[in-house]
Amino acid sequence: MGSRALRNPGTFVWSVTRVKLFQECRRKYYYRYFLAPRARRPDPPLAAKHADRLKDLVSLEMWTGQLVHTQLERLLQDWKRGRFPAEAVVLDRAREAMREQFRDSQQFWRGWQGPYRPALLDRHYYGHDPLPRERAERLRQRVVTSLQEFLDSQIAARIRRTDPRDWLPVDRHASVRLDEGTTVAVRPDFAFVEVGDAGRRLQIVDWKTGRGDPEWDPVQVHCYVMYAEQKWGFPAGKIDPWVIYLYPQCHEEALRCDAASVAATRAEIARTRALLDVEADRDDPLTLPPEEWFPLAADRGRCRWCAFREMCEGAPQSQSAAAVGASPGSGSCAGSSSGGPDGMGS
Ligand code: SF4
Repeated sequence: MGSRALRNPGTFVWSVTRVKLFQECRRKYYYRYFLAPRARRPDPPLAAKHADRLKDLVSLEMWTGQLVHTQLERLLQDWKRGRFPAEAVVLDRAREAMREQFRDSQQFWRGWQGPYRPALLDRHYYGHDPLPRERAERLRQRVVTSLQEFLDSQIAARIRRTDPRDWLPVDRHASVRLDEGTTVAVRPDFAFVEVGDAGRRLQIVDWKTGRGDPEWDPVQVHCYVMYAEQKWGFPAGKIDPWVIYLYPQCHEEALRCDAASVAATRAEIARTRALLDVEADRDDPLTLPPEEWFPLAADRGRCRWCAFREMCEGAPQSQSAAAVGASPGSGSCAGSSSGGPDGMGS
């Protein structure tokens, strides 16, 4: 791919999500970050429209994680307005949201004309069998347990003790601009100022409902620290970054934060940008880079759960994908093998 000189300073958006996708599968990275965006330009190729259609599909696990996040946002809005719903109310509305969103995702591909675009489950696009009740119950339990663990957590108690005027608003599309011309996309889940023996300190928080990632979770939260430095003027030494793991039981992890840890994160961003920015030395960044720069995943087992698997059908390595049952609509998604009534509807 040639050298990685930073030809267009300030035009590259870096994020932990982007790096992890690149590590997972280069072809997926190409579909998501190069091909799909072409669908929004004049006369897009069919493949770009195809990638654009698939890029927002989510697995059941991703969906439940997103749902917990939106339910926590709603709960924190309640608290901000001085309303403190009982646990049963919080859990009931989460279950209701699950039923609604699951139904809307099903309806979307049948010509649904709702006022917004719902979460789109890949199992509905790929036509998997109805969700078995036991699997639906496990998903419900994940959501319920995550919310219960939050409500019982120390961080929830600390948030409730602070004045909502000390809760800092976080933009949905927040970013931090680094000196060397990289924009880092961030989305902290919550930020508040706490006053204690050490004075006013900024608490910046990320909720997690899945497994922890010891390599990237700290980098992600340190990106939030850089954002907090720029946005709110808190020096790193007065910021406490937290990763709050909510499932299966709450674990509140405080990360070290000082000038050295922020510098290490900046170095990691620069290192990985050099890998990711494949357009940096191209003469015409408006044309697509060659697809062959982005090989298919070496571990084709992961293709079973990939939203883009429909596009890789017929690619040179498709035989190995077929061997693991990756063909669209085959019902090969884990847990979807049995038929019967849809378990999320009740
Ligand atoms: S189906 Fe497999 S090879 Fe294709 S983009 Fe997804 S993970 Fe990569």
